[in-house]
Amino acid sequence: MVTVARVRPGTIADELGIKPGTELLAVNGREVDDFLDWEFLTADDALLVHARLPGGEEFEFDIERPEGEPLGVELVPPSVRRCANRCEFCFIEGLPKGLRRNLYIRDDDYRLSFAYGNFATLSNLKERDERRIVEYRLSPLYVSVHATPWEARKVLLNNPRVPNIVEQLTRLAGHGIQFHCQMVVVPGLNDGDVLEASLTDLWNLGDAVITVAVVPVGLTQFNHLFKGESMSRENAAALLAAVGRWGDRAVRERRARWVFGSDELYLLSGEPLPDAPFYEDFPQIENGVGAVASLRTRLDEGLPDLPRMPGRRIGVVTGTAMAPMMGELARKIEAQTGARIEVIRAENSLFGPGVTTAGLLVGEDMRRVLSERTDLDLALIPAESINEDGLFLDDDSFESLRSALSIPVFASYDFVDALAGEPDGAVVAGAA
Ligand code: SF4
Repeated sequence: MVTVARVRPGTIADELGIKPGTELLAVNGREVDDFLDWEFLTADDALLVHARLPGGEEFEFDIERPEGEPLGVELVPPSVRRCANRCEFCFIEGLPKGLRRNLYIRDDDYRLSFAYGNFATLSNLKERDERRIVEYRLSPLYVSVHATPWEARKVLLNNPRVPNIVEQLTRLAGHGIQFHCQMVVVPGLNDGDVLEASLTDLWNLGDAVITVAVVPVGLTQFNHLFKGESMSRENAAALLAAVGRWGDRAVRERRARWVFGSDELYLLSGEPLPDAPFYEDFPQIENGVGAVASLRTRLDEGLPDLPRMPGRRIGVVTGTAMAPMMGELARKIEAQTGARIEVIRAENSLFGPGVTTAGLLVGEDMRRVLSERTDLDLALIPAESINEDGLFLDDDSFESLRSALSIPVFASYDFVDALAGEPDGAVVAGAA
């Protein structure tokens, strides 16, 4: 059963008298268990919907709708499938206490993998789930593989009952399901031979595996479970060498790069980040693969739109990982606009200095580096650090940050969004 959260006015559902709180029980005689059932069972244009209204009366709605016209209901968000693993490197395990509750939810849900591109390990997949993946053609799925050798994967996921991922992927691939995979690599556990064996297994699945991302393990100061090594410059370089070999082979034999190192791997190794064409259509950009190349491209394309603002002093706050390469971008903006850009490197006070990503900086970090900066005319902060409710991970809000600071602050994804359009560069962008 799924529950209606909202009914859009003027839609079929509205005309039928379906109200928020209505429980949708079955479609064309098939029980509705979750949003996936609802989504797929209502794909037809002739529908018999069995529903229970908020007052308790049950109805059968016989619906004939013009082709493709939406029914107009939004569902209460699903309860997510919880993760059965206990990875030592789990980012959620490494969260400090006292953050908002939903940040502590460890989801491992194939439905969200299909719907939103969340990575899932498939270790909690039941036979029925596999049948649904096949029936509803939930493809591509985003799969946290980490390692294909079974024993290594049990250790990585810290779960002796994890199923054999090669068998799972092979079964699903046999029905035409495809995958974007990721390997979070822990030195000593799944680099070297294990990585080689894993890439070989994934390669042997043919076009079922569309891409693989190799991502270095990231730890916060609260990852007390973790007993392994952290990623050194040498480890990162060795991983990139393996990724490069396999990627070159894939380009030769399959005309697509197939396997990519995450941006963080390049930053850790000190190797130059590839340009945009390397990433083809950026299949794993949400996983930090090619985000820097994409930023460079967007900036280059948007530079001509930036106004002249000679002498304006602009602070750009970023994490320690990105700070070194931000200088190159800042010089381009200076040349175009005449402004003076200062890259402000912020350490992460919530997760510790080991967490270097700009998008994980918190409100407290912004306050710390900006509160005394009356010498600046304005500051940009990474828009990725703010959620859709305008909150940083530490629950500080962007609005309260702006009112606390004496200079204007804008959230920006790529500089252009915040600086274009106004002669004095003062447009609110992103989550602002
Ligand atoms: S699979 Fe591992 S890393 Fe992912 S949520 Fe579960 S315990 Fe955390």
